[in-house]
Amino acid sequence: MTDIGFIGLGNMGGPMLVNLVKAGHKVKAFDLSADAMARAAEAGAQTTNDAASACRGVDVVVTMLPEGKHVRTVYTESILDNADEGALLIDCSTIDVATSRAVAALAAERGFELLDAPVSGGTGGAEAGTLTFMVGGSAEGFARGKPILDIMGQNIVHTGGSGNGQVAKICNNMILGATMIAVSESFVMADKLGLDAQTLYDICSTSSSSCWALNTYCPVAGPAPASPANRDYEPGFTAAMMLKDLRLAQGAAQDADTSTPMGAAAEAMFALFCNSNDDSRDFSAIINMIRGN
Ligand code: NAD
Repeated sequence: MTDIGFIGLGNMGGPMLVNLVKAGHKVKAFDLSADAMARAAEAGAQTTNDAASACRGVDVVVTMLPEGKHVRTVYTESILDNADEGALLIDCSTIDVATSRAVAALAAERGFELLDAPVSGGTGGAEAGTLTFMVGGSAEGFARGKPILDIMGQNIVHTGGSGNGQVAKICNNMILGATMIAVSESFVMADKLGLDAQTLYDICSTSSSSCWALNTYCPVAGPAPASPANRDYEPGFTAAMMLKDLRLAQGAAQDADTSTPMGAAAEAMFALFCNSNDDSRDFSAIINMIRGN
């Protein structure tokens, strides 16, 4: 049994914590939301009055917070001053690469290893314990963290040094955002030219344009029965989350002085979609904007 501190018990952190408790670990939990704390207590975690108390006397601290500013605050104002010597720190939030590396460097100055371990798989994967973790940090830190991540995920990948987990995550989502737009444009065009969606799907899903956005997450209802299009674009992965990740990708591209015109176009289109539609719908609903709806 490992003593674990868990900070950030939202849509993702909440179910991730449940799996740690179910696996027999003792978890101290903190969130600013009273509702999230109540759910964690019901699941069997010990809730604490503040973030500092959640990371005292534990072997591993896991954080699952919204953005880089929250991660920086929680680590610099609570965790680094209060975690026990030798505790392993794992940040599962999706945040900008620069902040991730900067906070890991501050942790290292204090003698802690901080792994960045963003996830893909969404809330369904968090509940089922089937997340993919993309982990940046030393090989030794990865080996220490893997048994804990194995409980919450199915596919745990060491991506290299600090921040590389975040790099993998934003590259994946930049591909996903751009391919969803390309797939949507093709399905709308085919419809207008008289080719039905199922026929296009049958051809493309087994041809050179085959990709996850088309095969599994097809933005039109019908061909892929499990895709959000079949339930009025109930997420899934919200358009707001996609926009957040595309913005992180653009920030990283600028920092790295690399050109990502397709990623920039995807960001602009999702920004337009989110400003003019319900951004809590699944990101594949962008096809409605392309249809002109
Ligand atoms: P969420 O908003 O549901 O949960 C975040 C939680 O952090 C909230 O409960 C909030 O109260 C808490 N929090 C914020 N500041 C805090 C502080 N200072 N101290 C303690 N608690 C604090 O978000 P989520 O959907 O769980 O996402 C968390 C992270 O996972 C994000 O970075 C997101 O991009 C990433 N992610 C989400 C999904 C998804 O499908 N939801 C998928 C992959 C990755």
